[in-house]
Amino acid sequence: MVNREKIEEAIRLLLEGIGEDADREGLRETPGRVARMYEELLAGMEADAGAHLSKTFGADNNEMVIEKDITFYSTCEHHLMPFFGKVHIAYIPDGQVVGLSKLARTVEVFAARLQIQERMTVQIADAIMDSLKPKGVIVMAQAEHMCMTMRGVKKPGSQTVTIAARGEFERDEKLKDRFLMLVK
Ligand code: ZN
Repeated sequence: MVNREKIEEAIRLLLEGIGEDADREGLRETPGRVARMYEELLAGMEADAGAHLSKTFGADNNEMVIEKDITFYSTCEHHLMPFFGKVHIAYIPDGQVVGLSKLARTVEVFAARLQIQERMTVQIADAIMDSLKPKGVIVMAQAEHMCMTMRGVKKPGSQTVTIAARGEFERDEKLKDRFLMLVK
């Protein structure tokens, strides 16, 4: 659980630190608002992806299942700034599949934390591997990082791409290429 009081205190200090008057009208409610916002943005810290992925059902064929363009918003742990974009997931079932909305839920669980994109990608892949036990899974995330596009190198629209492959996707380059072609 986030400690709202501590966050409020910190935001008041931050406002003072940047030379603002934390008591002026526009800022008076800001610490409280920011504290409530963080509670929402970081709700995934308390959540268990396995809970969403454990409801599986039997499948007759083991063809590749792809869910692409899952929108996500996360928070970069280095700058506390948003990074956001799309996640594409594919897996090869081993007799078991999961509802497609559960894949989106899994992305949400790992996005709603202080994150780095590489780790988020790996966590999604590992959670699917552990719970669903498919023959293979691959996760690709493409995102814009506000800490890169709003400041520093300032390259608006530039995308960071990360991939995590497990099982057959790790071993079979052709399979990986097929996925990359399908999500392009
Ligand atoms: Zn950053």
